[in-house]
Amino acid sequence: MGIKEPIRPPLMGQNKTDVLIVGAGAAGLAAALRFVGSGKKVILLDKNICGGSSTGKSAGFLTPDSELELSQLLRKYGTNGARDLWEVAAKGVDIMVDNIKKHKIDCDLQVQDCLFLGKGPSGWKDVQDEVNARKSLGYSSTVYDESQVPSVIGSKAYSGAIRYTGTYGVNALLYAQGIKQVLLNGGIEIFESSEVLSWEGHTVRTHLGSVTADKIIFCIDKPKRYITKYSEDVYHAQTFLSISEPLGDSDVAELFPQGPLQCWDSDIIYTYFRLTGSNRLLVGGGDMMTTYAKNDTTMPRVIDKVINGLKEKIPSIQSLRFIQYWQGRIDMTRDLIPTVLVDPEHPWAHFVLGCVGLPWATFCGTFAARNVLDDKELDNEKYYRYFSPARKFLLPLWLEQVLGKRIVFTVNNAWAKYRQKNVDSKNYSQEK
Ligand SMILES: Cc1cc2nc3c(=O)[nH]c(=O)nc-3n(C[C@H](O)[C@H](O)[C@H](O)COP(=O)(O)OP(=O)(O)OC[C@H]3O[C@@H](n4cnc5c(N)ncnc54)[C@H](O)[C@@H]3O)c2cc1C
Repeated sequence: MGIKEPIRPPLMGQNKTDVLIVGAGAAGLAAALRFVGSGKKVILLDKNICGGSSTGKSAGFLTPDSELELSQLLRKYGTNGARDLWEVAAKGVDIMVDNIKKHKIDCDLQVQDCLFLGKGPSGWKDVQDEVNARKSLGYSSTVYDESQVPSVIGSKAYSGAIRYTGTYGVNALLYAQGIKQVLLNGGIEIFESSEVLSWEGHTVRTHLGSVTADKIIFCIDKPKRYITKYSEDVYHAQTFLSISEPLGDSDVAELFPQGPLQCWDSDIIYTYFRLTGSNRLLVGGGDMMTTYAKNDTTMPRVIDKVINGLKEKIPSIQSLRFIQYWQGRIDMTRDLIPTVLVDPEHPWAHFVLGCVGLPWATFCGTFAARNVLDDKELDNEKYYRYFSPARKFLLPLWLEQVLGKRIVFTVNNAWAKYRQKNVDSKNYSQEK
């Protein structure tokens, strides 16, 4: 399916609807899709274009693995909790792939196994932790020690790797634009260039119009305080991406001897790379100085360093030219788990915030929509607990007033990822 509708016009005049969805990234699009055929009148607004923010800028790795590896989920939530949350993201992957196949969306879908690459002795330990976590949850994987890594990736620089299946690569901007077309065909009204500037009761206002809705689902990024106090829960990580000229077939075979994979390494600020359908290498990463910086860095020096670091590890790409780069901010919460809630002060409004990863966003958007549709499932309350804004963090939030949001967020992120244990397990799934 190609893009038939270029940019939708902005919202104008006064409008009424059953459901208003604000934000057309992976989450808002997934929410809107749930209403096609429901008989509800639905309006979808975005201040940019559909997929114009993080979703469209992303590298398109579709994997349940996000900022939290499975071993980290296991340490934090125990067996059942880790399984629940891994399945959340796995379900998000399935929803996206099913949509692509069902609606024949032309978005460069690639079946691409994951390869998590260890760097140095600590990286090899991370790989083994992941292998053990997968074993304990009954998920299959293949492990490669240092001597075996070159059989899957043209490099001798990694200390080991773990590979697993069920993952894909996708051009996420084309995916978003494809879903937009499906929504338009399904009777959803979409307005782009329509930023919600204020919200009062059941009515939101943009610069040229307003919508009054029975129910509202906010799936926005970089939320502002004037929309919700839950904007306080969200910060961001900045990451950089670049794309190369196409590789020749022999270069591809040298880089990926057993076929293309999507890869990332064990560094805290990790480097990630995958091949697109046109044999271009997408490489992403960042550095400590800019990841949590308050303002965007647009200079190429960070991505240049990432690319040069990768070139040192993979000799066959030494002379590969990278033709374009961009940066983006990934919204995240203090513990890297999304916040999804029904606003207690406005019970007709849902918020989906801080989803790290396209699959998480897709699941959470669908989840919010199914609750608005009253199409609840047995596991409903469990997810509201996982995604509740009332979660525990190492550093208390008042410290943000003293030390600043950036520092406190970074510490809380690191704690959640590397240290936090047994998170309120009795409130989530009961361990068997
Ligand atoms: C460079 C980069 C690479 C990434 N790579 C990957 C990857 O390979 N795999 C992966 O899974 N994830 C990746 N991510 C993360 C992923 O893109 C995000 O986690 C995901 O897209 C979040 O989706 P979302 O719908 O929650 O948010 P967004 O895509 O940010 O959507 C939110 C939407 O809300 C709109 N909006 C905000 N405020 C308003 C308002 N007031 N009024 C109207 N509209 C508003 C925005 O314009 C935006 O379109 C990457 C992110 C970046 C930046």
